[in-house]
Amino acid sequence: MFDKILIANRGEIALRIHRACQEMGIATVAVHSTADEDAMYVRLADESVCIGPPASRDSYLNIPSIIAAAQITGADAIHPGYGFLSENDKFSEIVAEHNIEFIGPSADHIRLMGDKISAKIVVKNLGIPVVPGSDGEVKDSLTAEKIAEKIGYPVIVKAAAGGGGRGMKVVQCKDDMGNAVMACKKEAAASFGDDAVYLEKYLERPRHIEFQIIADKHGNVCHLGERDCSLQRRHQKVIEEAPSPALNISERSRMGETVRKAIQGLGYIGVGTIEFLYEDGQFYFIEMNTRLQVEHPITEMITGIDLVREQIRIAAGLPLSFRQKDVKFSGYAIECRINAEDPFTFVPSPGKIGDYHTPGGLGVRVDSGIYSGYSVPPYYDSMIAKLIVHGKSRNECLMRLRRALGEYVIDGIKTTIPLHQKLIRENDFINGAYDIHWLENYLNSING
Ligand code: ADP
Repeated sequence: MFDKILIANRGEIALRIHRACQEMGIATVAVHSTADEDAMYVRLADESVCIGPPASRDSYLNIPSIIAAAQITGADAIHPGYGFLSENDKFSEIVAEHNIEFIGPSADHIRLMGDKISAKIVVKNLGIPVVPGSDGEVKDSLTAEKIAEKIGYPVIVKAAAGGGGRGMKVVQCKDDMGNAVMACKKEAAASFGDDAVYLEKYLERPRHIEFQIIADKHGNVCHLGERDCSLQRRHQKVIEEAPSPALNISERSRMGETVRKAIQGLGYIGVGTIEFLYEDGQFYFIEMNTRLQVEHPITEMITGIDLVREQIRIAAGLPLSFRQKDVKFSGYAIECRINAEDPFTFVPSPGKIGDYHTPGGLGVRVDSGIYSGYSVPPYYDSMIAKLIVHGKSRNECLMRLRRALGEYVIDGIKTTIPLHQKLIRENDFINGAYDIHWLENYLNSING
């Protein structure tokens, strides 16, 4: 087992990883920008190294600084968390070249799945259904029009290297195709340094359902059920729940098994998430994430499995501490992503936190690194906390979430807590009757 792990991330996920390390008796190294000197994860880590100024490209994306920090402190592994360098195949290669273990899948698998076009081709060949569309890159609008004619409008133009909900354009009719392809290519080149785009049928009322998988270096692969992440704004998740209110036990085990076999066929190692759109009883693959997800705690709550601990064990060459038959799903879990933003206009609201009180009690978990007196910096993602509740039934979970959101006090800045409080009282949410477009429509209706 490792003696010391460097955590190449910040905020709540850096703290989450630190906690797993502490419980395993592993020392931690935090890295931070000058804007994060006072962050809780930096205070709690065994050692910390400043790796640069506030801008992410100069600090959390600065590979030479991070490698130097690992070498100076003698870390024998690096956990990348999510975002930043977690899906950067070059980073994982450079880490390995320095005889440090990268806690994640191989560079080849990161590269393969990082290109959504190659990912779709590979998983299709492994027996996973994909969204109908171009079976590869679309180079010009004429080709795009021909494909759209075949699959039928509306369609969506997507960047092969896209992520974070960016690099997507919905096209309703032929006349709009030229502009959409051009705009998407331009955005893709600017944001991801790769202008390749592809086409998919635009599904009009799907749910977003994703399967968690985990695989060790000894050929053991398990699926840990699904998460429903259909409540989204601008293609970004806002509330997630597990299990999905839309699936029954047989659909879960059938799809879980399909995914498990495909991942085994791929020879993939580590944790990963296979994302699907689900409509009229059919699953359609959209992408695979080769890292820990923001929403991993809801899977932990219903399975009792510590995903970060397992990631570390896998990287150290140990076998999974369970088999598929040992994976038991217990109750329901819901996660609310709490952002430092105006709850209805979503304008960022960084600044100093005044009074701070977290909810507690049975079945309540808060993953966050903020505290009274802490200043939320303006440079990074606005998510400052995740409130996760677990209950025996979905109804118990909803009532507990209502209670916990009511207890949560974050003064001094605006947060999205009031939005969550409103959402979880909506009948459609209570009934689990929502698709990926529900939240946008709802926000349009309340904002006028
Ligand atoms: P990213 O990597 O940016 O997260 P994804 O491919 O995972 O992009 O898609 C993010 C979200 O965009 C999905 O959860 C869904 O809401 C929407 N989306 C993507 N593809 C389609 C599609 N073919 N039809 C309808 N919505 C889509």
